[in-house]
Amino acid sequence: MRQSEMLVPTLREAPAEADAAGHRWLLRSGMIRQLAAGIYSYLPLGRRILLNVERIVREEMDRAGGQEVLLPIMQPAELWEESGRYSQYGPELMRLQDRHDREFALGPTHEEVVTALARDEVNSYRKLPFTLYQIGTKFRDERRPRFGLLRGREFIMKDAYSFASDWEELDHTYQAMNKAYSRILERCGLEYIRVEADAGTIGGQGETHEFMALADVGEDTIVSCKQCGYAANLEKAGYQTNGAVTQNTAESRLNAGDQSLIRIHTPAIRTISELSSYVGEGPEHIIKTLLYQADGQLIAALVRGDHEVNDIALKHVLGVDELILANEEALAGRSDLKVGFLGPVGLDLPLIVDADVAAMGSAITGANEVDMHLSGVRPGIDFVLNKVERIRFAADGDNCPSCGAKLVFTKGIEVGHIFKLGTKYSDAMNASFLDRNGRQCAPVMGCYGIGVSRLMAAIAEQYAGEDGIRWPAAVAPYQIHLIPVNWKDEQQRQLVLELEQQLGDAGYTVLTDDRDERPGVKFKDAELIGLPIQIVVGRGAAERNVELGSHTLASKGETKRFSMSVEEA
Ligand code: ATP
Ligand code: MG
Ligand code: MG
Ligand code: MG
Repeated sequence: MRQSEMLVPTLREAPAEADAAGHRWLLRSGMIRQLAAGIYSYLPLGRRILLNVERIVREEMDRAGGQEVLLPIMQPAELWEESGRYSQYGPELMRLQDRHDREFALGPTHEEVVTALARDEVNSYRKLPFTLYQIGTKFRDERRPRFGLLRGREFIMKDAYSFASDWEELDHTYQAMNKAYSRILERCGLEYIRVEADAGTIGGQGETHEFMALADVGEDTIVSCKQCGYAANLEKAGYQTNGAVTQNTAESRLNAGDQSLIRIHTPAIRTISELSSYVGEGPEHIIKTLLYQADGQLIAALVRGDHEVNDIALKHVLGVDELILANEEALAGRSDLKVGFLGPVGLDLPLIVDADVAAMGSAITGANEVDMHLSGVRPGIDFVLNKVERIRFAADGDNCPSCGAKLVFTKGIEVGHIFKLGTKYSDAMNASFLDRNGRQCAPVMGCYGIGVSRLMAAIAEQYAGEDGIRWPAAVAPYQIHLIPVNWKDEQQRQLVLELEQQLGDAGYTVLTDDRDERPGVKFKDAELIGLPIQIVVGRGAAERNVELGSHTLASKGETKRFSMSVEEA
């Protein structure tokens, strides 16, 4: 490919929006452009990287027995109502209407669509197990799109769904996917850790793992042990409750002003359903809202996950003047705070002592172990809650729960997530099959997601160097950058044409910088683009000498240079 004919709008400076190293280089090397918050165009070089990542993902999915499909992005709201998620999903679900006022959602994930497909098409154990996968566009109206492709609103995901006749069969597929995911990340050249994850309150019924690419900009915290290999995400590690302290002890400690004791109580002001209908969100959403209280005045709300609650509505319903959406940093050191927890009182759900509460408590008190005094009264109902739980919130330097060695905390980017769903969706949506004995059963499902565009961003993050991204060969847009210092020089031009031909014949993809630019400009752009091998053809062309630069032979983020004859090269 000739660079003069290609759209590669490199930039001298990164736009102000760029908030991570990899993101800055992707913009500066002319690979992506932002159209709206969290919505990106892939330019020719960026598109080639994305296609390479897709190819790796596709090959490994096929190897693991997946069958590729393509499912619609526009999904009828009725499907989401069937699964119960239309009200639960919150504002991340992009809702829209067609000209007949029919409700649709832009797919943030495809469990509903794929379960409906299985319900219609699969009715016998003979057709099980099978795994469908697709690579396509997802839309999630993220509250805080950031770091470019890392957290987009429109992004590319590979999602796979498996259907099995029992849990044993599901486990088989789960292990195959687990292996495929490891291979994908290795082939992409990523440093990663696989961690135990938490299924959360509305998740599936079985185990779940996340694949974390290591990077400082990562929004996840990985808790791991070098000695025995234990690794979990912070939520999972934070969920360990180490028995309860007695009510009396807690009371006397509270009275003595013990700040490490967090008082949690469900405000009796309003019922959940009232709040739910006012805010226009399902109760599942509301129970994830934590409210903080100081001297009887609610001052802050933390919303778990990426859901945004209408804080004006909350203010109104709760009758407070000041309400801020808070994060751990904002509350750190505020030992004057008491914590109010708006729990699922009155719902048919167990009270959830959320890891977020532990995280908050820990941030406020600076301790990694907090006792939570849970109390609450629901008006009109004979229900008084009064108990104390001790939550251990894992902290840097803690001992490993399995071997006792010191735990290490690192930041990671969730690039993949595999999940044993069980029959959650098949039950809710009445998908069933007849087993060997003619009994009607629900297929046991698994789902497996990997962020294809996020993978590209994670690679950019890990391979960001001083002058650009040093793309690993497996995903680089071209393998070789052929750079004539002076394209107008006949000898240089001839040698470049010859090399283009030879390298092309040998199966390499080559980008030739045939632009009429100063050498400095060309070299700077070449560093920005970061192809694995650069061949510079300059004055030595007369003696058939070239300069070879390679960062695949050097360590990450560096380039090694050699001078040699064309024949050696
Ligand atoms: P996160 O915790 O980062 O919000 P998630 O747990 O909501 O991610 P999943 O529902 O597990 O994401 O989706 C599967 C995969 O899709 C994720 O592991 C990630 O690689 C990718 N992904 C999810 N959200 C985004 C996004 N906003 N932009 C890019 N990739 C995403
Ligand atoms: Mg998310
Ligand atoms: Mg996640
Ligand atoms: Mg996830």
